[in-house]
Amino acid sequence: MKFSSNISQYDHAIVLGGSIGGIVTAAYLCKYFKRITIIESDDVLNDIFMKSTSSEILDYRCRLESPTSLGRSGVSQIYQIHGLHSEGYKILLELFPQLKDKLFNEYDIRTYSLKTECRLMNSGVLLNQDLTEDFDWLGIDRFTLEIVLRKELCLKFDKQIEWKYNTRVTDLIVDQSLNIVKGIKYRSKKNNNSLSFDMYGDFIIDCTGRNTSSPKWLKKNFNLIIPTVQVHFGCGYVTFIGERFRTDDPSLDSAAIIGAGVDSPNKNTGFITTPIRIIKTIDNNSLGILATFGIDCVNFEYPPNDSYENLLEWTKENLDSEYYTILTKNKSKKWPQNYILLGDAMCTFNPQYAQGMTHAFRQARELEKLFGESCHKLKDISHIFNRRASVITEECWLASTANDWKSPSLKVIETNKNGDVKVYQRSSDSTMTNHPQPRATLMMRFMQCFNMEIHNRITENFDTTICLRQINRK
Ligand SMILES: Cc1cc2nc3c(=O)[nH]c(=O)nc-3n(C[C@H](O)[C@H](O)[C@H](O)COP(=O)(O)OP(=O)(O)OC[C@H]3O[C@@H](n4cnc5c(N)ncnc54)[C@H](O)[C@@H]3O)c2cc1C
Repeated sequence: MKFSSNISQYDHAIVLGGSIGGIVTAAYLCKYFKRITIIESDDVLNDIFMKSTSSEILDYRCRLESPTSLGRSGVSQIYQIHGLHSEGYKILLELFPQLKDKLFNEYDIRTYSLKTECRLMNSGVLLNQDLTEDFDWLGIDRFTLEIVLRKELCLKFDKQIEWKYNTRVTDLIVDQSLNIVKGIKYRSKKNNNSLSFDMYGDFIIDCTGRNTSSPKWLKKNFNLIIPTVQVHFGCGYVTFIGERFRTDDPSLDSAAIIGAGVDSPNKNTGFITTPIRIIKTIDNNSLGILATFGIDCVNFEYPPNDSYENLLEWTKENLDSEYYTILTKNKSKKWPQNYILLGDAMCTFNPQYAQGMTHAFRQARELEKLFGESCHKLKDISHIFNRRASVITEECWLASTANDWKSPSLKVIETNKNGDVKVYQRSSDSTMTNHPQPRATLMMRFMQCFNMEIHNRITENFDTTICLRQINRK
C-alpha cells in the first residue's frame, strides 16, 4: 500500500484497544492521521510479546496456561481455535507486504489451498469440492498472529503510532451541545486509584471488543441508548495443540484443514483442525504438521475439558468416527514434569562422526538458556526442553545416519510409542532374512547424495569450510 503525501491529513486519531481490530485500524488510518495513539489495557509491549522467537511463542501457546500470566487478560479467546478467511488474509498482506515472507521464513507457517488441502463438511456435504476459484488459508494460531501483527505495526509505523499500554480507557470527553466526542479519559490499569488523565483527538475508534463500555459511555454522556439483541445458544469450545499423525485414510491425511460444522438441531457438535506450523520430523507416521484442534458445540452440549481420555470418550459418542480417529492418533503419552534426557541418553550416534560430545554440549547450553529465560515455571521446563533439544538431535541424527544407511548389512529396529517393535534388515539374498528391507527417506537419500558430492569435491581441492557452513545454515 502506498502512502501518498498529497492526502490531506488530520492530526490525531485515538484507537481504544490494541488487539486484532485496533492494530489493523491503526495501520489503515496512518494514511490519514499525522499521529495515532493506541490505548490498550494489557501489557502487550512487554518483552515476552515483542522479543520472543517463533519457538518461544509456540512454547507459551502450548503450555495451556492462562494468557493472563503473560500479561494478556483482555482477550479471553486468544488461545482458542481461529480460522482466518482468505479476504482477511488479503487485507493483512495489503497492509503488511512483508508479512508473508516473515511468517513463512521465521515462523514455519504456510498457506493452504482451500480447494485441494481442505475437507470442510456440513451435514455430510463436502463444502469445498466445487470451488471455481481457489483461496489461500493462512495456517496460523490467533496468539501468534496477533503478536506478529503488533510487531509489524510497531516496525512499520514506529514514528506515527504511540502506544499507551497497561492503560484503561474509563470514559469519553464530550461536548453535548455540539454532539461530539472530543477525547477520552484514561488511567493506569494497575492501580484503580491512580490519577485520571484526559486525551483529545480528532477521531476516536472503539476497538475494545465484546465487553465494550461504549453503550454505558454513550448513555451517560448523550443519553443515547444503543439497541442490542443477545442470542444465547450455548456455544462452547475445547481447543488444544497437537501433532497430526497418519490415520490410514488418505482422504483425511491429505487434508491439512478438516472440519465438520454444527448443524443444529440435528447435530449440535462440531470439529475442526487447522495447521499452525510446519514441523521437521523423522517420524514416518507424522504428517509434519502442528495443528490446533477444536471441538465445539451449541445447545450447551459442552465437550469435557478435564482430561484427554474423557474428551476422546465424548468425541466417540458425539462426533463422526473419522474425527475420533484423528484425535486418537494425535494422542501421545505426556512426558513427566521435572525430568529430561540429555546427550547420549537422548540419542546415541555413530562415534565415527565425532558429534556425541558436541550434541550433549549444545543441549546443555539450550537447557541453560531455558533456565536463564526465567519466565518458565519449573514444571514446564522438561516439555519445552524436549521440543528444543529434539531439533538439535534431529540435525545430528540426519547428518550421521545418512551414510550409515548405506551399509549392506543394515538392520533397523523401530519401537513406536505403543511399544510395538518392527525390524528391517537389508540383505542381497532375500531368503536370508525374514524381515522387510529398510527404506531410506527422501531426505536421507538427499543427504547421501550431498555427502557424496562433498566427498568428490574434497578430492578436487574444493573449499569444504564454505560448503559445511552452508549446510549448517540450512
Ligand atoms: C471461542 C471463539 C472463537 C473464535 N473464532 C474465530 C475464528 O475462527 N475466526 C475469526 O475471525 N474470529 C473468531 N472469533 C472472534 C474473534 O476472536 C474476534 O472477532 C476478534 O478478537 C475481535 O477483535 P477486536 O480487536 O475487535 O477485539 P478483541 O480481540 O476482543 O480486543 C479488544 C482489546 O481491547 C482491550 N480493551 C478492552 N477494554 C479496554 C479499555 N477500557 N481500555 C483499553 N483497552 C481495552 C483488550 O485488552 C483487548 O486487547 C472467535 C471468538 C471466540 C470467543
